[in-house]
Amino acid sequence: MELTSLSSIKQLSAMFGFDFSKSLGQNFLMDSEVLDKISKAASGTKGVLEIGPGFGVLTKVLSRDFEKVVSVEIDKSLLKVLEYTLEECKNVKIINNDFMKLNLRELLDKEFQGEKISIAANLPYYITTPIITRLIEGRYNLENIVVMVQKEVAQRFCAKPGTKDYGAISVLCNFYTVPEVVCTVPASRFYPAPKVDSAVVCMKVSDKPNTDVYDEKLFFKIVKSAFAQRRKTLLNCLANGFSKDKSFFEKILKEAGIEPSIRGEKLGIDEFSSITNTLYKYINNK
Ligand code: SAM
Repeated sequence: MELTSLSSIKQLSAMFGFDFSKSLGQNFLMDSEVLDKISKAASGTKGVLEIGPGFGVLTKVLSRDFEKVVSVEIDKSLLKVLEYTLEECKNVKIINNDFMKLNLRELLDKEFQGEKISIAANLPYYITTPIITRLIEGRYNLENIVVMVQKEVAQRFCAKPGTKDYGAISVLCNFYTVPEVVCTVPASRFYPAPKVDSAVVCMKVSDKPNTDVYDEKLFFKIVKSAFAQRRKTLLNCLANGFSKDKSFFEKILKEAGIEPSIRGEKLGIDEFSSITNTLYKYINNK
């Protein structure tokens, strides 16, 4: 069964008495070109993990392009539909669970024996950032993370220093991955149509962080402090975030070659790394 047409979505909903849940972010994609782009961007591994298969429209394309597909769906009422739509896709395994609650490392070991895989998903928008944070911070064995998200969120993931979209999540994405927007997708390509347009982002996961840093935890504490009060200078933000005197951080920033009156949103990962490594040496008397 072809799943990208409005008539097939309506037919399946009627057949299985399925009601779309707004709170679970159930906006189903109806664009085969975009599906191909997601699958192509995720390619390079044998296995792929999908979050939220819905009626299985992307799952089917992934099943065609990958050796093994594992899809995690929270909504129990979709299981019967997926059994029907994916009947011929023998390389697909559906897991009924909340992606945010399952033990991901255990799942990856069990289903893919620890082999490198990619992530492909049209994400439920209400938990986009927690999902991306989980995937990136977990340092799983991933090649690509390819996700459809709200357009503005995609811009934040890929934002460069000094732009209005740049924030702590941009630093996280640019630290562990190389993110880029693959394409934008108008709201009309989904059913039901959401209120906002979307974009596909491909994050190529780096084997090691994209800048040399002595202590990753310290790096992200500095980033969090720097963005906590966007209108304040970096010096004020760091002094507040670490509950230290300004004079202490004046010394650290000077040594790191960073202007104390600058705002955190102007700094790239190399500058944050320089602050981290200077502070690290100071704390550890090296
Ligand atoms: N992949 C389908 C498509 O492209 O048309 C559906 C995408 S829809 C935007 C998001 C899907 O994620 C829905 O099927 C929804 O039930 C599921 N979902 C929502 N929250 C989830 C969670 N916490 N864990 C796993 N799946 C979830």
